[in-house]
Amino acid sequence: MKAKAFQQCIIPSCGETYDLHALRTACEKCGNLMDVRYASKPSPTLKEVFDERRNHRGDIFNESGVWRFRELINFPGVDCDDYDAYSNILVSLDGAEGRTKPFHLTRVAEYVGMRSENLWLQFEGDNPTGSFKDNGMATAFTHAKMLGVKRVACASTGNTSSSAAAFAANEGIEAIVFMGEGKIAQGKLAQTLDYGARVIQIRGDFDDAMKWVKELVTRKGLYVVNSLNAFRLEGQKTMMYRLLAYLKWRMPDWIVFPGGNLGNTSAFGKAFKELYDWGWIKKKPRMAVVNAEGANTFYKLFTELGVTWNGGRVDDDIIDSYYTDLEQQGRKAKTKASAIEILQPVNLKKALRTLEYTDGVVVQASDKEMLDARAIVGRNGFGCELASAATIAGIKQLVSEERIQPDETVVGILTGHMLKDPDTIIQYHLSPGNTFSNTPHVVANDLQSILAIL
Ligand SMILES: *Cc1c(COP(=O)(O)O)cnc(C)c1O
Ligand SMILES: [Zn+2]
Repeated sequence: MKAKAFQQCIIPSCGETYDLHALRTACEKCGNLMDVRYASKPSPTLKEVFDERRNHRGDIFNESGVWRFRELINFPGVDCDDYDAYSNILVSLDGAEGRTKPFHLTRVAEYVGMRSENLWLQFEGDNPTGSFKDNGMATAFTHAKMLGVKRVACASTGNTSSSAAAFAANEGIEAIVFMGEGKIAQGKLAQTLDYGARVIQIRGDFDDAMKWVKELVTRKGLYVVNSLNAFRLEGQKTMMYRLLAYLKWRMPDWIVFPGGNLGNTSAFGKAFKELYDWGWIKKKPRMAVVNAEGANTFYKLFTELGVTWNGGRVDDDIIDSYYTDLEQQGRKAKTKASAIEILQPVNLKKALRTLEYTDGVVVQASDKEMLDARAIVGRNGFGCELASAATIAGIKQLVSEERIQPDETVVGILTGHMLKDPDTIIQYHLSPGNTFSNTPHVVANDLQSILAIL
């Protein structure tokens, strides 16, 4: 089956289309973001095919939790049944990306006040480079390869750069990474350097780094692998396909996840919109996006200032004046959850579209709420990155405010691996005042002392 795909401006009243091979992150006419669009309508009978592929029999593109669903993200237009054809075009970390599924964690369910069977958590930290970003890099690098790109660039708080560096190393492409100086967790910086990316540390934060990368796209024609790249978001849709396939296409009531640059918010909404339009699903789950209090632009604009997608007629004036105020006050993003320490989310409008489409909500969580929530995930023998714990803090809040009802089903996405930022975790446990801290015992080097504490 061959699919035809193209790029299109997200604003319906513009709707300018571009060739699949065009190097674009913004519409030439109106400056807004792009979507990947498909002319074909995949058949729901593929649900069985996807299940069968979980017995991958050595085909890495069936093993991959991204490419197992290749008919639904087939912008390269490959013959999805012909291994020789698709294996030459699709990019994969040897089938390792996206091998995740939802599961239950009883202590987390207790903590947020839900019955365990109603709460599913999908651990995207289990990806090869330790975050959900690998889902998106598989498709972004496939597009880059179609274009014959030799250099890719990104701005990163860490996980984007680790993932981009790994895919680039595998494909023999050069990766250039812009980071805010001192704004990156040790584990992530270690990976990025080790995978051979060129790291440029800017004396600024993520929002500054992102600004320069955008500028370099125009000046140097760099291929950007941040989430403003519409092809990256195609891969991130598969997180939703995996959970639906695992739940045998029974629709959960809520999907809850952290919001940084709002790539996931955009991708998840697109996934459900397409499935709905293709006649695969009858009901859409509600999205709940969780901002950190110290990086809460989406919360402020949507929840407090009432900015909505409004069918594509977004009130730009409110957004512009909000950003002008931020600049005048010299306000910078500030949270320990570095992966969501972003004040100017590039996917803002796509994310507003998702909220309109899924009757979504935005809440915010404090660092303390995230730190405690993260520790509870750890107590289950799993663990996640601090930003991921925004998910748990958000669910807890929505349950206590009775916005999530007792009989509703929730899937939370845990976006990153705990070992990417061990410093934050150790500091939490070293301070006995924290709610769930587990402080090491220091004892004298003799049997009596050791026996005395046991
Ligand atoms: C990138 C990242 C996020 C933010 O996701 P967006 O799609 O940019 O909103 C959250 N958590 C982790 C661990 C991340 O790496
Ligand atoms: Zn446009």
